[in-house]
Amino acid sequence: MNKRQDNYVSFKDVQKSYDGETLVVKNLNMDIAQGEFLTMLGPSGSGKTTTLLMLAGFEVPTNGHIYLDGQPIDNMPPHKRNIGMVFQNYALFPHMTVEENLAFPLQVRKMGKAEIESRIKRALDMVQLGIYGKRRPAQLSGGQQQRVAVARALVFDPKLVLMDEPLGALDKQLREQMQFEVKHLHDRLGITIVYVTHDQSEALTMSNRIAVFNDGIIQQLATPDDLYERPLNAFVAQFIGENNKIRGRIKATNGTTCQVEIEGGGTVQ
Ligand code: ADP
Repeated sequence: MNKRQDNYVSFKDVQKSYDGETLVVKNLNMDIAQGEFLTMLGPSGSGKTTTLLMLAGFEVPTNGHIYLDGQPIDNMPPHKRNIGMVFQNYALFPHMTVEENLAFPLQVRKMGKAEIESRIKRALDMVQLGIYGKRRPAQLSGGQQQRVAVARALVFDPKLVLMDEPLGALDKQLREQMQFEVKHLHDRLGITIVYVTHDQSEALTMSNRIAVFNDGIIQQLATPDDLYERPLNAFVAQFIGENNKIRGRIKATNGTTCQVEIEGGGTVQ
């Protein structure tokens, strides 16, 4: 087996402005390893979705470059990137059956009928929806629709899958079940997943590494344990610690500010 690449996805000095003035992504440098589950975590408006859209090819960086598997992809249209995508609102075609939804990305890739049929069957079995192929999305529960969306993102065997708040619309119990299932698929298929959420516990449960975003900047990129134990600054400590018992080095907190001991000495508010 080939050695897994540490920089399967690479953002180099990437900036993005929508209005030609304000940078909503500022000097982003980030490498994502092959097979990694990398989560972008941060408050609303911090630039996570914009970063994902640039990787998907729906937005173009204002400056800098993005590389996929060693190739610059700045000018490559989305469908050539061979990336699976799952977004919050499912984006299933409502007028198509589940099978037709799954066939769509395969037809776009001009696969033969027999190949399409066998892939659809495999994908439906994978998300345990084998008997629902003839239904339309409206005839499925929220969780089932979300499973179809996951199956559709995986049906053409992409090596990279992007997920933007995919479980945001689900209730707590279903969300936790889907978190488990997505993580299980990741482990089993060995795909690279880039995931966006503003939910700390979701990020901490699922990810190999987490990039904590704030105001268009990565505040820290580290494993969940490292973020917990060694938050680099007050923002990370507060954001990660907000709803969790942080084991890190927070010295004091009064609700809106907290004191954190920084690696190498000193404290910040
Ligand atoms: P997040 O995913 O972290 O919530 P976004 O990447 O969606 O953040 O947004 C980052 C900033 O860019 C926000 O201030 C948002 O209002 C702005 N923004 C996002 N999309 C557009 C767009 N299409 N046009 C103009 N501004 C946008």
